[in-house]
Amino acid sequence: MEIKHYDYVVLGGGVSGLGFAKRITDHGKSVLILEKEDFIGGLSRSIEHNGFYLDYCAHRFHTNNKELLNEVMNLPGLEMKKHIKKSRIYMFNRYLKYPFEIQQLLAAMPLHQSIASGFSFLWNQVAKRYRKTNKLQSYKEWFIHLYGKQLYNVMCYPYTSKIWRTDPKNLSADWADQRFQGENMRKLIKRVIKKILTLDFSSYNLKDDSLAPDGGPFYYPMRGIQEMCDALARAATNNGAKIEIEANVLSVNTENKIVTYSLNGQEQTVTYGGLVSTIPLQTYYNLQERKNLEVEKSLSEIKYMDIIFVYLFINKPQLSNDHWLYFPDKDIIYNRAVEFSNWSPLMCPEGKTSVCFDITAFQDTKEWQMTDAELVEKTISDSIKVNYLERSDVESSLVVRVKYAYPFYDLDYKRKLDIIVNHLEHNNTALLGRTGMFKYNNSDNSIESGFALAEEFLKEGGKNSVYEYKIKAVSY
Ligand SMILES: Cc1cc2nc3c(=O)[nH]c(=O)nc-3n(C[C@H](O)[C@H](O)[C@H](O)COP(=O)(O)OP(=O)(O)OC[C@H]3O[C@@H](n4cnc5c(N)ncnc54)[C@H](O)[C@@H]3O)c2cc1C
Repeated sequence: MEIKHYDYVVLGGGVSGLGFAKRITDHGKSVLILEKEDFIGGLSRSIEHNGFYLDYCAHRFHTNNKELLNEVMNLPGLEMKKHIKKSRIYMFNRYLKYPFEIQQLLAAMPLHQSIASGFSFLWNQVAKRYRKTNKLQSYKEWFIHLYGKQLYNVMCYPYTSKIWRTDPKNLSADWADQRFQGENMRKLIKRVIKKILTLDFSSYNLKDDSLAPDGGPFYYPMRGIQEMCDALARAATNNGAKIEIEANVLSVNTENKIVTYSLNGQEQTVTYGGLVSTIPLQTYYNLQERKNLEVEKSLSEIKYMDIIFVYLFINKPQLSNDHWLYFPDKDIIYNRAVEFSNWSPLMCPEGKTSVCFDITAFQDTKEWQMTDAELVEKTISDSIKVNYLERSDVESSLVVRVKYAYPFYDLDYKRKLDIIVNHLEHNNTALLGRTGMFKYNNSDNSIESGFALAEEFLKEGGKNSVYEYKIKAVSY
C-alpha cells in the first residue's frame, strides 16, 4: 500500500480547518483535511431541505478585523450582502429592542422594579470606582460588577441560566470577556448613563455598531453560510489542498506522525509534518496513543453543550422583520427564533418563510429526551403564546440535534483545559477552532486563528500553537 506524505493533516472540515488549509496552501504546502461527515462546514454548515436553506440558527459573518473581512469577502465565487442587525427580546409580555437599551428596559418593567434597577445601576457605576476587585471569577460577579444586582436579576439571570442550564454563579467570567469584551461595552455604558442623566429616551441608530455590543453590520451569503465554507474550501483546493469527506479517522500516532483512516471501506495511511485537530478534545485524545491519567480526569470533567434545532416551515412570506428574537422566559422551550427570509430572499421558496428555534441541552436534559414530535408541538404552542405565529401558519417541520455545539465554561475549566492542551499539543500537533481548542469562538475567530496557526507553522521558530493567541478583533 502506498503511504502518502502531507506537510499537514487536519482533522475536521469546519471553518477553522478550512481557514488553516487555505493559508498554509497559499504558501505552497500540502494539506489533507479529513472530515467525518458527508459535508464540510461543521457548525457553520447549511442544510438544503425541500427548497429551503437552513443554518444552525443563522450564522452572520461579522468581524472588526479589516484584513480578514477583505480576504473572506474576496473568496472565489462568494457573494455576501451587508445587513444591519435587527433583533428583539420578549420580556414583560412585549418585544423590546435587543441588545437592551437600558432606558427602554426600565420603562417596560413594573415601576417598583424599574426604580430599584435604575438606582442600583447608577449606584453601581459610582461604587465600582472605589470597589477593590480581584479577578472576577464568575459570570454573575462580572455582570453585577458592571450593572448592579437588580439588573442582574432581570437582564442576566433568566436568559443566561436558561441557555446554559446553569446558575451564572457557576459559569466562568471568561465567557463574558470573550463575548462582550472591549471598547464597545465601555462606550455603551457611557452612552446609557448620559441618556439617563439627560432624560433622553430616543432609540439608538441600528447602523451605529460602535454603540451596541453585538449589534451593527454583518455579512451573509445568498443561500446560507455554507456558501462561505464552500468558498473557503474552493480557495484551499484551488491551491492544491485535498479534502476527504466521510473519512473515518482510526488512529493518530504522534511519535511517528502517522494517521490511519478508512474511506469507502478502504484503510489508508498517511504521514505528516504537522497535525491540526479541530475535533472534540475527548475524540482526539482517544485517537492518539499517548495516555495520561491526569489528562483523562480533566477530559472527563470538561464538557460541551449540545443543541436542538426545531425548524418550522411557514406558508407566508414573513412573520416579523427581525434577524433574531430572544426568549429568556423559562416557560418558552426555545432560546431564539431566527427567520431565514429576513437573511436572504433566496433562503426560502417564493411566498414562504422558515424559522429556526434553538434549544440548548445536555444529553440528560429533559428536552434532549423529548421526541421530535413533542419538540415541534411545544415549539408551536409556545410561539402562539408569545404572539409570534398561528398554528395554521405552519406547513411542516424538521428537528436536527447537534452535539458539541458550545464549550461549557465552568469556574475551573481553564485549569483543566491547560492540562489537556499541554498534553495534546505534542510533537507538531496543534489544537484549533471552537471545538478543537474549546474556545467560545465565532466563525471569524475560528478562521482568523486558522490563518494564525498556519503562519506560526510557517514562521522560523514559530510556536506551532495558537492556544494563547489573542484574537485581534472584538468577538461577539
Ligand atoms: C447555534 C450556533 C450559532 C452560531 N452563530 C454564529 C454566528 O452567527 N456567527 C459566527 O461567526 N459564528 C457563529 N457560531 C460559531 C461558529 O459556528 C463556530 O465558531 C465555527 O463554525 C467553528 O468552526 P470550527 O472549525 O472551529 O469547529 P467545527 O465547526 O465544530 O468543526 C469541527 C469539524 O470536525 C468534524 N469532526 C468531528 N469529529 C471528527 C472526527 N472524529 N474525524 C473527522 N472529523 C471530525 C466535524 O464534523 C466538524 O466539521 C455559532 C455556533 C452555534 C453552535
